[in-house]
This record gives sequence, C-alpha cells and structure tokens, in this order.
Amino acid sequence: MGDNYIQVDVGIIGCGPSGLVTLKELLAEGHRCTVFEKSNLLGGLFTQAYQQGILVSSHLLTMFSDFVGKDKEILNKPRMLSFIEYSQYLNDYADYFHLKEFIQFQTEVKSLWKDYSDNKWKICVNNFNHIYSFDRIAICCGIFENASIPLFHNQHLFQGKIKHLKDIQFYEDFHNKHICIVGSGESASDMILAAAQYGKQAFLSIRKDHGFIIPRYIHGNRDEPADLDTSRAHHSIPRAWGVLHTYIDMIHSLIKSYFNSFFYQNEDQLDEYNLIRRTGIYMNLKQIQTSNIWTTFGTKNSNLVEALVKYKDKCSRKSGIKELKRNSIIFDDNSEEYVDEIICCTGFQILFPFLEQNSQSNFEMKRLANDAKISHNLFKHCFHPDFGDEIIWIGFARPALGAIPPLSELQARWFALLCSKKLKLPTKLEMNKQIYNYVKYLKWQLTSYRIDRLTNLTDYLIYSDNLARTIGCRPDLTRIFFQEPNLWIKLMCGSLLNAQYRLTGPHAKRKQAKEIILQARWIKQSNILYLIMLICYAFFWFVFGIESCKPASWYPL
Ligand SMILES: Cc1cc2nc3c(=O)[nH]c(=O)nc-3n(C[C@H](O)[C@H](O)[C@H](O)COP(=O)(O)OP(=O)(O)OC[C@H]3O[C@@H](n4cnc5c(N)ncnc54)[C@H](O)[C@@H]3O)c2cc1C
Repeated sequence: MGDNYIQVDVGIIGCGPSGLVTLKELLAEGHRCTVFEKSNLLGGLFTQAYQQGILVSSHLLTMFSDFVGKDKEILNKPRMLSFIEYSQYLNDYADYFHLKEFIQFQTEVKSLWKDYSDNKWKICVNNFNHIYSFDRIAICCGIFENASIPLFHNQHLFQGKIKHLKDIQFYEDFHNKHICIVGSGESASDMILAAAQYGKQAFLSIRKDHGFIIPRYIHGNRDEPADLDTSRAHHSIPRAWGVLHTYIDMIHSLIKSYFNSFFYQNEDQLDEYNLIRRTGIYMNLKQIQTSNIWTTFGTKNSNLVEALVKYKDKCSRKSGIKELKRNSIIFDDNSEEYVDEIICCTGFQILFPFLEQNSQSNFEMKRLANDAKISHNLFKHCFHPDFGDEIIWIGFARPALGAIPPLSELQARWFALLCSKKLKLPTKLEMNKQIYNYVKYLKWQLTSYRIDRLTNLTDYLIYSDNLARTIGCRPDLTRIFFQEPNLWIKLMCGSLLNAQYRLTGPHAKRKQAKEIILQARWIKQSNILYLIMLICYAFFWFVFGIESCKPASWYPL
C-alpha cells in the first residue's frame, strides 16, 4: 500500500447483486463496510420475484468478472440460469470472497442523512434505536423495488383484481382465469405465456410499441443464448446505421429460419420454434422506424410471441386500455373483453424513502432523493455533482441490451478507487457538462420518448467501456492484436464478458481473465461478419472522415 493510502467506512444499502459486488470491491481496496439488507436473503430481486423465472441474460454476460461459479462447464455450454440458480451463484460468490460476515440481514434502512457537525453520513435502521456513522454511502437498493401501477379510466367500477408483476409468485395462480397482461417488456412476456398456458383466456395489452424482440436462445438451439451476439464487434456498429444494420440482421435471421424449416421439416419442435422466431422478426419489422435494435430496449425473451403463436385460440394482442367496466375491459380499438384479473407489468418507480420520508430528512436530502430518481441526471448514473463521491448509486444504469450486474461491478470498482483517493471525480462544472452531453447523446440514440420514460436506460458497450477507461482497465486492443491475436479475436467477437476488464488495470487478474475469455463459447460465423462490417465502417470514418461511420465503442461520453 502506498503512503497516501486511505481507508474509509462505507455503508451499503441493499444486498442484491449490486450491493454484494460493491462490498467485495470495497473490501478489496481495504475499506471497512457494513451492508444493510431488509430481507433475510442474499440475492435481491431474484429471491423475491416469481420463482419460476429465468434470466434473460446468459450466465456469460451476467456473471461477475472474477467468479464463474461452481459449474465451470457453463463457459462452454452457456445458458440462462433460473432465478433460483442465480441466487445460488450469488451465495457462492459471497462464500468465496468471505462477504457474509459484513451483511446485516433483516435490517431495513429507514433514514439516511448527512450530519454537517462531523461531516459524516448517518443511517438509522428498523426501530430507529441505533445511529450508524459512515464516511461514504453506496445506495444499492435496486430499480425494481416499488411497483408502478397505472390508474385506468373507471377503475372503481371494475370488480376483478388489478395486480402488479410483484404480486405474482406462481404461474399456477392464473389457472382457469381470464387474464389481461399490460406491458411489453420481458416480464410481461413471461406472464402472457403463463397466462395463455394456465388461464382460460389471455390478452396482451400494448399501448405503443414493444421492445425489440430477441429470443433467449438462437434458433431453438439451447446451446447458444442469443446474447452471445453481444460481441464488441456487434456492439461497435455505428448507431447512426442502426436501421440498415437491423434490416441486415433480420434478413439474415429470416433466411436462416426458412432454411432450417426447409431442411428439418420433420422436427416438429424446431419447426414451431422457427415459426415463433419468424413471427417475432415480423413484429419487429412492423415498428422498425420507431424502434430498431439500437433505439429501444431489448425484450430479450420471445415468450410473448410464443404465446400468440402457440395459443392463438385463447391468446391475443390488444391495444391500450381505454376504460374498465364491471367485468370487462374496453380497449383503444373499442373491442371489449371479459377479464377476471389485470396484471400490470408496467415497471417500477424509483423511490428512496429513507432519504425523503422520515423525521431526520431535511430539504437537502429530499432534493437529493428527487434528483436521483432521474438516473441519467447523475454523473454516469452514479454521482450527484453536489455531493461528489460521498454517495453513489450503484445498479441504476440499465442496458438496453445486456445485463445490470456487470455494470454494477464496474461502478463498484470505480467507487472503491475513488474512496481510496486513487481516482478523482471531475469538478462539479465538468460533471454537469458531461451529464448534459450524455443525455443529449442518449436522446439521439434511444429517442427522447424512451429516455424521458426510462431514465436509467444506457448503451451497454459504450457505457462499460467508458467506465473502464475511467478506472484504467479497458484492454489495450491494439497491443493485444499484435501480441495475442487469439485473445484479440475472442475480445472482438466473443460475448461481452466482464472478465475483459480484469486483463489490465487496478485489481487485474490477468491469468484467470484470459482463461475465462479463451474458454467461453462464441458464435464465430455472425460475429466475424460483424467484425468485417465494423472494419468497413472504421475505414470510411478513418480515411474519408465520415463521422457517422465512427465505431460506437469510440464515442466519448
Ligand atoms: C422479472 C425480472 C427479471 C430480470 N431479469 C434480469 C436478467 O435476466 N438479467 C439482468 O441483468 N437483470 C435482470 N433483471 C434486472 C434485475 O433486477 C437486476 O439485474 C438485479 O436485480 C440488480 O441488482 P440490484 O442489486 O441492483 O437490485 P436488487 O436485486 O433489486 O436488490 C436490491 C436489494 O436492496 C434491498 N433493499 C431495498 N431497500 C432497502 C432498504 N431501505 N434497506 C435495506 N435493504 C434494502 C432489497 O431487499 C434487495 O435485496 C430482471 C428484473 C426483473 C424485474
């Protein structure tokens, strides 16, 4: 440790994936930590949501950079873990890095404020009978904590039940019911398939457009999760060429799907899968002008298409809800359907009750809570410019395509180095300037409509690379190209593993990271095609100065 080594006390709120990785990274830098978790389990949302759930990001993409888990085979045979398996992975992670002793379970943070008399942050828990004092705070309470339920016109007339996704624990609850699912995200996709399977009648109400539908697995081949395509080459395609690229992508998938149907006619399961895949592509095509692959969030789950295709006799897509009647819904197209239950998969509200709803709160804390609700108005979704690195939000950046935990890991590594004063935040003025440019960029790429509604949405590669540059752990791709070409090709064409950010920089674990990257399965064919496309774009940018051809991973944020 250097002479200027600094050790601080950090309070961490929440012990989902984000809280856990924050604890691990802070301990690795030598800081003293206490984690407060209100439930009695480690694993956050995945221990609380419907337990038949399956992740929509493969383990390769979701796992932390330096822990594969007990099942090493998963590198060669990647798949989506169930919520239960992923919670087990997090428990194994906690055991491996000896984290559990720092976690206080069944301890809800009720109040958080800054005490200017000693310049420390104070936390009160459960019965307000003890005040904890910290130098730094990490808020890791997740973005899926507080249900957001719309108020429908004439809701008071409706005799059926209106529930939120959070109220659903088992798919069997839909048995024999007429269900309307509201929403078009990944959980709505799970719910509509379950409602179609178990219920009597199922309706999917989508107000405007749905996310870009991507199945969990490519072409029904369970060995290849679709997000193995999240390679650096793929994600570096310049965003200005999003529509063209989306067409190429879809035509390629369509040809492959028709080809499969033609040559494997007798394999019923595969044929059904191809039909579902094609229907999903046509659904995407219908809304390509408003939402191509780079301008919207991905619905990385084609269960909604499966429900509409497989259960077409009892499952249908509907427009938005116009009004409710005693036992039915009138949709925007004036059709009326009998319904027992409405399940709102309408997202979550970001709230920080411990900052705003308690006796200790002053105006400043309320303002902080209010500002932080709009995640992209924080510096890199993490810091409020007025409070600098004293308080961080971890786990509040949500990639349009990708996984949240690896982003939390990079944020946690950055925070740990800031706490040790090995890194420094820019000035308040500079942070505000960068926030302004970042939001402008997001609005250009993901449209104002989406950015105003989903304030935590970000672009996976651009954001991760940006944090990695700040930390000093972005791999030097030019050097690797010349010295380790086999590693370079995996870094460019393999899935976007967080292990790439352990090859170099603070807390690098080069040998382990290299092994993970080289062992991980990749999809050669399409990703090499993306690489060739990328080289062409880069050529036009470099030689002719065409700015719109600049590879996305080189955008400064
Ligand atoms: C249905 C569904 C499926 C998803 N699937 C995926 C996926 O496949 N891949 C992916 O990357 N992401 C997925 N997500 C997003 C997922 O929620 C995040 O990746 C992950 O949970 C983020 O972890 P987190 O630690 O930030 O938040 P959480 O997992 O929500 O953890 C927050 C923790 O904070 C605790 N807490 C909250 N308030 C307090 C308080 N006041 N005091 C003490 N403790 C508190 C909570 O009890 C909880 O344990 C999914 C989300 C949903 C809703």
